[in-house]
Amino acid sequence: MTDDFTSLERGLCPACGDAAETFESGLSSGWKCTNCDWSIATANSITPTFDDQSYDVWLEESPVERTKKIAFVAMLLAIDIKSARSRYDSEAPLAEGIQALEVKKLHKKFKAKGLGIRIKPDFPWPLG
Ligand SMILES: [Zn+2]
Repeated sequence: MTDDFTSLERGLCPACGDAAETFESGLSSGWKCTNCDWSIATANSITPTFDDQSYDVWLEESPVERTKKIAFVAMLLAIDIKSARSRYDSEAPLAEGIQALEVKKLHKKFKAKGLGIRIKPDFPWPLG
């Protein structure tokens, strides 16, 4: 199993070395390969589901216009423009104390808009 863990820490399939990704279905979760049919369902701490670390998330610096960023923040966090602007200007985190799976969801939403996020502490899971 040691090799599996080492590969998975890098987000790679231990069988073929291609990209592995996490999956969740109902109560089970684990990793599956995006290339071959390797997969592992798990009930231990190797997936974000069981990561009890809390994370803070900020919007990453990017060339996207400020007003657009603020509008995205408002839309994605379902807050008004004024709150979004003050949050953005004060460099407050977009989200505080959220779990790994929430971080991944947030990342996905922002990525769809061409925006990146910054995570503290360092996020050990592949963001996909
Ligand atoms: Zn594979």
